[in-house]
This record gives sequence, structure tokens and C-alpha cells, in this order.
Amino acid sequence: MPSRDIRAGRLPADQLARNFADIHPPLTPVQARIESERCHYCFDAPCVAACPTGIDIPSFIRRISEDNLRGAARAILEENIFGGMCARVCPTEVLCEQACVRNTNEDKPVEIGALQRHATDHLMARPGAPLFTRAPATGKRVAVVGAGPAGLSCAHRLAWLGHEVVVFDSKPKAGGLNEYGLAAYKTPDGFAQKEVAWLLSIGGITIRHGQALGRDLTLDALCAQHDAVFLAIGLAGVNALGVPGEDLQGVESAVDFIERLRQTTDLATLPIGRRVLVIGGGMTAIDAAVQSRRLGAEEVTIVYRRAQDRMPASAHEQAWAQNNGVLIRTFSVPKALHGEHGHVTGATFAVVHDENGRLVETGETWHADADTVFKAIGQTLADGAASGLALQGGRIRVDGHGETSRERVWAGGDCTWGGKDLTVEGVEHGKIAAHDIDRELRGSLRAATSAPRCAHMRRVD
Ligand SMILES: Cc1cc2nc3c(=O)[nH]c(=O)nc-3n(C[C@H](O)[C@H](O)[C@H](O)COP(=O)(O)OP(=O)(O)OC[C@H]3O[C@@H](n4cnc5c(N)ncnc54)[C@H](O)[C@@H]3O)c2cc1C
Ligand code: SF4
Repeated sequence: MPSRDIRAGRLPADQLARNFADIHPPLTPVQARIESERCHYCFDAPCVAACPTGIDIPSFIRRISEDNLRGAARAILEENIFGGMCARVCPTEVLCEQACVRNTNEDKPVEIGALQRHATDHLMARPGAPLFTRAPATGKRVAVVGAGPAGLSCAHRLAWLGHEVVVFDSKPKAGGLNEYGLAAYKTPDGFAQKEVAWLLSIGGITIRHGQALGRDLTLDALCAQHDAVFLAIGLAGVNALGVPGEDLQGVESAVDFIERLRQTTDLATLPIGRRVLVIGGGMTAIDAAVQSRRLGAEEVTIVYRRAQDRMPASAHEQAWAQNNGVLIRTFSVPKALHGEHGHVTGATFAVVHDENGRLVETGETWHADADTVFKAIGQTLADGAASGLALQGGRIRVDGHGETSRERVWAGGDCTWGGKDLTVEGVEHGKIAAHDIDRELRGSLRAATSAPRCAHMRRVD
């Protein structure tokens, strides 16, 4: 049995600094001007339809080409208040940039994400006069539970529309996975907190930390004390592997590892195994694997149960992992984790094949030594956090406006069913729900309004 090799400081400080620096450095002003001129400013632009928040992309890019960066930022942030973060983390290769007509004859889309970052970074560096002014106070109070992208997007829109908002969050910092989850090299230098501070500068939003729904708060009490409630609690639970050895030391949820990494002030103090196994195939698996490599783990293997082209992580993300030296093994499911003196030392996997969508074991197995095993097979709603609400697929069921089965309670983001679990979608859910809440609070008839609907929320009504 191999001995456990897990320790901090596998790489020198300067190497760690390089490994966790911004993976997509910002465009220079000249680069931004040249890139903006590649846009055809299409009428009925397909990129706009491909952006979940419907940003008027040709319009903001034209403003960049005219050197009107504040105007460009306004066009972005009016639709997507997290435009700065989305510019860094949106999988543009499957969203706006995939739809760019430049792909057809040049195989290279306009770099929409990079241009969006150029404009929003400019505004964050020189905020100047407030971009958004609040409407006259309505006297209505809305509770938002969860200070992630969905919750804060909803809170900002409601505050803008003149309502008072109280945001409750179980964690000590706002931002949700922007602060605790996204890969460190996508959003370095404390950007998540800077963006939250800018967003809150609109006023009318109070955040109460250390307040968990299901522990410190009940939905009944929130409904009694507020005119409406928006739930944006993400997915705080983690799926178990359900195999022997899961409680050994060194076996951890990938999300917990990433949270620890994001919150550490000195990466050299963060222990990591020499041989790391990551079980799963989504963005969380990729981020845990790549960040393990970048901390100095020598052998990092992602193990996924189906074919590689079925992995939830995009082909771009898979290539990113492989270019970082991560091995991807497919058609394998964990059977047991093995340990010595209470600590994991390896895992056995069964080889499977796909029989009309059903995974069937072939009888073959393989073993891998490991000092660390990260579980990344999906997250779930935390127990009891949505009690009393109708669920669908294990998440909160909502209609196209984000309304839940309970009157005056809306929900959005990852905790709801039917989305793709992306930051940009959470932002859109929050925006759509805010408009619906506003309509309800003002007593107007929904049928008479032309406010946007969220294409990614399925109707159940
Ligand atoms: C590791 C990882 C990497 C990712 N990378 C990307 C990426 O590169 N690009 C991308 O677009 N998307 C990415 N995502 C997905 C993206 O982060 C989420 O889709 C997005 O954060 C969802 O926003 P949300 O507001 O619904 O939830 P969250 O961001 O999870 O926020 C939920 C908030 O609710 C709070 N909360 C939870 N339970 C309670 C409770 N009971 N009471 C009170 N508060 C509570 C939490 O503290 C948190 O602040 C990634 C996700 C993970 C896990
Ligand atoms: S928010 Fe995301 S999908 Fe929309 S235009 Fe910006 S980078 Fe593209």
C-alpha cells in the first residue's frame, strides 16, 4: 500500500503566483479598438439571442469602437448587473461567441467576453456618477435569501425599481459562488467583492450574514415580515458516491476544496495530495482538477462514467484540463475507496459500457492510487431549505417568471429546476423575478405588461 503524500507548498511562491494569475489578461485599449471593429453590428444579431441576459452586444461593441466606454458599460450592466464577472466566467464558446457570424468565414468569433470586460473594468476603475438612480420609494419590502448572482441581481433590480430589500445569507461574505466557487484564476484580485461593493452602491439593499433559511429563518416568518420573498439559495448539498470508504480522510467534496482555495490568503499553505482523483465530469470537476495541478499535484485524473463527449463540461473546458496535464478516464464508476490508518490511499473503479443510455458493468475493474479524492458528481438543494415548496427534479419548481408554488414567493438560479447552472443564467433569473415581483407589488395585471420572460425557466402554469 503506498504511503500518503499530502502537503502544502509543493511549488515555490512565484510559481504559485503565476499559476493562479488571471488566465485571460485584459485587452489593451488598442486591442479593444481593433477587436471592436471586427463586429459587423448585425441587425437581429444572433449573439444577442445567445446571451441569456440579452445584452445588446452590437450596441456596446459599437460604443467601444467610438471610445465611449462608460456608455458601453451601461448597455451591458442595464441587462446584466454582473457583466464584469460574466465577462470573466461565461462559457462564451457555447453562448454569445458561438453565435457570432464571424465564425462562418473566419473560424474566429469577435471576442465578446473580452470586450465586455474591457468596458466594465473601465467603469469599475472610474465609477464616476451613479449609473443607475433608484425610482421613488414604493414603501414595499422584499426579502431575498441568498447573496449569489441570482439573489443580488434580483436585489439590485428591486432596489432600482424603488423597493427596500433585505438579503439574508448563511455565509460571511456576499457573492455566492462568485466568491466561493469559481476558479481562482478566472477571477483573481478580489474582483468578486469589488463587484458586490459596486452593485450595493445603488442603496436600498441591506445584507444580513450568518442567516440560514431552515436554521435561523423560516419561510413563514419571511413571508409575514415582507411583501415578497425571492429564494436564491443555490445548491448547498453535495451528492454522495455511495461506496465504501467515502468517509476516509482525504476524501472531500470538490466544492469544499475550491471554497478553501478561494478563501486562503496564502496558496503555499494549502495542502494537496501528490496523486489526486476527481470523480465527476462537470465544471466543478474540471476546476478542482486544474487547481490541484496548479497547486503542484503531480498526477491528477478525472474519472467520468460515460464517454468524454457526454461530459457536462464543455469541450473547451476539457481541453483546458488536458492542457494542464489532467488525465481524463471515461466509462468508469467508483466501486470502493481504500485507506490506511483512516486516510484514503486509492480507489477501485468498475469499467462500464453504455447500453442504450444505461451503464452496464463489463466485469473489468481498475485501481488508482490516490492521496486525495474529490467528489464532483453534482450538488443538491440543502435539506429543509425549500420545505413546503413544490419541487421538480429535486429543485424548486418555478414558472416562467420565477414564481414558486407558494404565493408571494419567487425563486431563481441554481436552486430552481430547468436551467444550465451558469452565473449568467442566475443573473437573468433574478432580473426576471424582480420585474414580476415589481408588477405584483404595484398591483398591475401581468397580461398587460411586456416585461421580459426568462427563456430558460420552463412554464408550469
Ligand atoms: C466549482 C464551480 C465552478 C463554476 N464555474 C462556473 C463558470 O466558470 N462559469 C459559469 O457561468 N458558472 C460556473 N459555475 C456555476 C455558477 O457558479 C452558478 O450557476 C451560480 O453561482 C448560481 O448562482 P446562484 O445565485 O443561484 O447560487 P450561488 O452562487 O450558489 O449562491 C447561493 C447563495 O445562497 C446562500 N445560501 C445557500 N443556502 C442558504 C440558506 N439555507 N440560507 C441562506 N443562504 C443560503 C449561499 O451562501 C450563497 O451565497 C460554477 C459552479 C461551481 C460549483
Ligand atoms: S453575459 Fe456572457 S453570454 Fe452574455 S454577452 Fe456577456 S459574455 Fe456573452
